[in-house]
Amino acid sequence: MQLKTKVVLTIAGLLLGVSLVGSFFNYLKNVRDTQAQLQNTSLPLSVDNIYTEIQQRMIEPLLVSSLMSHDTFLRDWIMEGEADMNGIVRYLTQIQQKYDIFTTFLVSDVTKNYYHPRGLIDVVNDQNSADAWYFRFKDQAEPYEINLDYNAHLSDTLIMFINYKVMNYKNEMIGATGVGVRLVNIEQMLSSFKARYKYDVYFIDTKGELTLYAQELNKRGNIANIEGLKKIQEAIFSGKQTQFEYKDKAGEYLLNTKYIDKLKLHLFVEINKKEYLNEIQKTFYLNLIMSLLVTCLVIAIILYTINIYQKQLVQLASEDALTSLSNRRTFNESFEAFYKLHQKGLKKITLLLIDIDDFKEVNDLFGHLVGDETLVRVAQLLQAHVRSSDVVARWGGEEFAILLLDVEKEHAKEIAQKICQAIQNDAFFLERLRKPLTLSIGVGELSNFESQDGLVHKVDNALYEAKKAGKNQVVVV
Ligand code: GH3
Ligand code: MG
Ligand code: MG
Repeated sequence: MQLKTKVVLTIAGLLLGVSLVGSFFNYLKNVRDTQAQLQNTSLPLSVDNIYTEIQQRMIEPLLVSSLMSHDTFLRDWIMEGEADMNGIVRYLTQIQQKYDIFTTFLVSDVTKNYYHPRGLIDVVNDQNSADAWYFRFKDQAEPYEINLDYNAHLSDTLIMFINYKVMNYKNEMIGATGVGVRLVNIEQMLSSFKARYKYDVYFIDTKGELTLYAQELNKRGNIANIEGLKKIQEAIFSGKQTQFEYKDKAGEYLLNTKYIDKLKLHLFVEINKKEYLNEIQKTFYLNLIMSLLVTCLVIAIILYTINIYQKQLVQLASEDALTSLSNRRTFNESFEAFYKLHQKGLKKITLLLIDIDDFKEVNDLFGHLVGDETLVRVAQLLQAHVRSSDVVARWGGEEFAILLLDVEKEHAKEIAQKICQAIQNDAFFLERLRKPLTLSIGVGELSNFESQDGLVHKVDNALYEAKKAGKNQVVVV
């Protein structure tokens, strides 16, 4: 594996590892905190709020019922034989309208007549199960009760009746009076808790029947038959515990309960863990995506930076810094590649070794900077005379080498001579050095079975010959 790949993989692994582990622990902590907060604060607070709200909704009807039961008009009206129907209807209607209550009623114990603002609507009968409430109420000691019931004459929804006993002056029961409040508003309130806080709020009576609930609640009937709840019903009814956790097919729940004595109902406030876990999970996935994006971005920046430095390093390692020609190392690599082609009998290889004549003088007369400029200019001119597939390299000092591929020796000689001409006539040198610059060039072709070193040695000798013969010339071997 490349070092670059290793570095990138390590950094990506570290970054991802750290952010994944971080996100995961954060998620676990969020779940724990949210659960604790719900169980210790939000759910109990909601239980108290709902309890207060329900109490408030009951106080006015309770007061009105109490007031009715103590009204001497009612007492006297029953005791005087229930003669004036208009009188009682007016009375019940007035109270109903004044307090904006769904219904008011009076039951006489003498006649068992059930009076309503519309008049006499029923006669209670202990054989009729719908009237059982009256006889049960009559038998109990308390002066009033709150009773959640249906009344087919009045409404098809549940009504909260507040029944008060009417007593004569000897403190004997002569009837029952009170008000009925429709519970639709309370059901709406329960729905609003679901919509606002994702809480399910419902009421269970002392027998375990679900009595009051929002329509969207997924539970009906008796909790003795409801999966999950049946296991904890004993603990709920015993009142020893008010916080519960239970499971059913639809999920896992946190439940808080409270017994409302006046209503004889257990208030249940619960939340399905899924409801709040969804939110936390969303945040978790969002964190993961962000971590991935940041990791990708960091990796992209690292790759970009590494690539830039790598390019620079490759350039530094393969190029001559002054002339930007190939250096000796690159020259050798190219030579090796050409040599392999030659061995397969595919290409001719010709080498030119070039040495600037009397270059020392240039340095001595005009300084090193001009010497450097001269080398750069020579490099440019050399490159201008060969194809891009040929290799021009700085051989060292003021010496250059050119490898020509698939060029006849005669043609190579012509190229060498053209280079000499071009350098000699170049305006740059004429102007800067005030005389023509000349080159000595050795030219040789790789023969069969000859080594790379052999060719270099042969051409170097040719160059030496050119120098010895008076410089400014091309010698071909
Ligand atoms: P000859 O005709 O026999 O080749 O004589 P010459 O002066 O060209 O050869 P010599 O080997 O005596 O001198 C080469 C000079 O090139 C000496 C060295 O200081 C100079 N030189 C080598 N590399 C550089 C370079 O990068 N910049 C400059 N300015 N001079 C260099
Ligand atoms: Mg030299
Ligand atoms: Mg020289």
